[in-house]
Amino acid sequence: MLRSIRDALKSHPTIYNRYQQSYAEQVDKVKVDPEVVKLIEQYELTEDNVIHQLPSFRQWLLERSNCDHCSGLSSCQNIYKGHASTPHYDDGELTFEYAPCNLYRNHQREERQKRLLKSHFIPKEILNIGFEDLDKDKGNIDAIKAASLFCLQFANAQGKGLYFYGEFGVGKTYLMGAIANKLSEQGQSVYFVHVPTFCREIKASISDHSYIEKIAELEKVDCLILDDIGAESFSPWIRDEVLGPIIQYRTQNEKPILYTSNLDYDNLRTHLAESSHSQVDELKAYRIAERIRSYTVAYKMYGENRRRG
Ligand code: ADP
Ligand code: MG
Repeated sequence: MLRSIRDALKSHPTIYNRYQQSYAEQVDKVKVDPEVVKLIEQYELTEDNVIHQLPSFRQWLLERSNCDHCSGLSSCQNIYKGHASTPHYDDGELTFEYAPCNLYRNHQREERQKRLLKSHFIPKEILNIGFEDLDKDKGNIDAIKAASLFCLQFANAQGKGLYFYGEFGVGKTYLMGAIANKLSEQGQSVYFVHVPTFCREIKASISDHSYIEKIAELEKVDCLILDDIGAESFSPWIRDEVLGPIIQYRTQNEKPILYTSNLDYDNLRTHLAESSHSQVDELKAYRIAERIRSYTVAYKMYGENRRRG
């Protein structure tokens, strides 16, 4: 039968005495530690508590010291990386549990966000913006409020998205960045696509068919952001075989799309029809424009060009 170390040592009196002495010394050392003193006072603990849980107390103090001298998650010396033992007192019982530190939590959140938030040619800084970073004025306040509400009610969006339009530099893309971050923080997957660049890429990948996979991704993601629609020159093929199907699939499946554009609905409609070669073609363009209009609420953003500042 297995015996405890203490029992095994008892049959060797000299060693046992030394063991007891060293244990007692450690208890003496631990119980005068200011953190332990605080804990003893707070929960009216006895010396017995310290004696019986000495290894846990020591681990707790060791990890506190590690954390005080922390030089980053990657060099964490604690038993469980990014976690520290923390005392809990409940129902007369003191236990030590492992809890994640802030660095670990932030790391997890960033990783999750990286997984959930994908982008296609969007400047990195845009993807770090929070609503709290936005300057507000009368030219953007309605759009910001709508954006914030959209994030809050995303689960009930039922396919209805937003359409921010206005002059260059008024902050349309910037505001979308805040939405993208908020949604991914909430656990929703987001794809942020710069439409003109995306169209160029798609044209380049027609021959290897890799665009089919990309289209599927844009169809499935929880929220799709199409930035700067109307700034591209759509070929009828991209319009009817790429953009049209993505919008159709998403609206039919109640998945919202958010747009930014320099054009209002009417001008976008004209723009989409520009490359048409026939009436049938034109009709297709109008149908896409109509779908965009029906499944979004538009907000005009105006004001100075913030890029100048
Ligand atoms: P748009 O997409 O309308 O052309 P952007 O969103 O790219 O304009 O905005 C241009 C720049 O203006 C941003 O990179 C940012 O530096 C600044 N900016 C835009 N909106 C805001 C805002 N609400 N608060 C602070 N800075 C902003
Ligand atoms: Mg923009």
